[in-house]
Amino acid sequence: MMTDAVQKVALVTGGSRGIGKACVLDLAAAGYNVAFSYARNAEAAQEVVKAVEALGRKALAVQADAADGNAAQALVDRTVADLGRLDGLVNNAGITKDGLLMRMSNDDWQSVMDTNLSGVFYTLRAAAKVMMKQRSGSIVNITSISGVYGNAGQANYSASKAGVIGLTKSASKELAARNIRVNAVAPGFIATDMTHDLPLDTIAERIPLKRLGEAQDVAKAVTFLITCGDYVTGQVLQVDGGLVI
Ligand code: NAP
Repeated sequence: MMTDAVQKVALVTGGSRGIGKACVLDLAAAGYNVAFSYARNAEAAQEVVKAVEALGRKALAVQADAADGNAAQALVDRTVADLGRLDGLVNNAGITKDGLLMRMSNDDWQSVMDTNLSGVFYTLRAAAKVMMKQRSGSIVNITSISGVYGNAGQANYSASKAGVIGLTKSASKELAARNIRVNAVAPGFIATDMTHDLPLDTIAERIPLKRLGEAQDVAKAVTFLITCGDYVTGQVLQVDGGLVI
């Protein structure tokens, strides 16, 4: 039985920039010690570590390729070894390799599936083992509105994100008896490096709330699901300014 005295711990994949970074900082502000992974940008990761420590919480940055199942297991093991437990997992790491279907290479298909879908499975499986022993935990998988309604030029990305929704629903049913909740957050267009090259002004016009999302908008939804959505599981929460209603 968990008491208020327990120092809770969260793990965020791809936490060095963008939405993942915002999740790391929001969870730290909510009182969590936070571990996070990154792919290459060690300098950005160290800045995030400092920002978490400035909030009075412990931070652990680990270079770990989300597409590598052994690295995902090692990431979870290191989190538990260094920070003591695991209460929340945010599967955020993701990439795009956009292109028209007819010209999409096998590599561009496979690498997006490996990172965005298999990567979520690897980390979720490793974290669920820890959470099953604790008999508590909350997992949030970052999908996308592209996985909900499709997007021309993103067959690989939409398929991977739709897969994340199916994985989320199945895992939520399988893990509920152990008091582990599994939900997905589906962002719309969020201003990060990933969307930097898109025609953002034109896109904003199509959004009912008439603006792009900020990484913080997504982080707030994630923190809600991790920290206090106690009776919410198997859901896909769209954070898209009303784009897909
Ligand atoms: P971003 O700005 O490109 O940041 C990506 C983050 O993931 C970075 O921390 C990066 O680490 C890390 N990363 C990339 N590949 C990785 C790998 N193989 N293993 C481990 N970490 C990896 O992306 P973002 O816009 O914040 O997107 C975050 C998530 O939200 C993704 O799953 C994306 O599909 C989803 N999403 C984004 C939007 C949007 O509009 N931005 C919309 C819908 C869904 P390094 O710093 O080391 O490169």
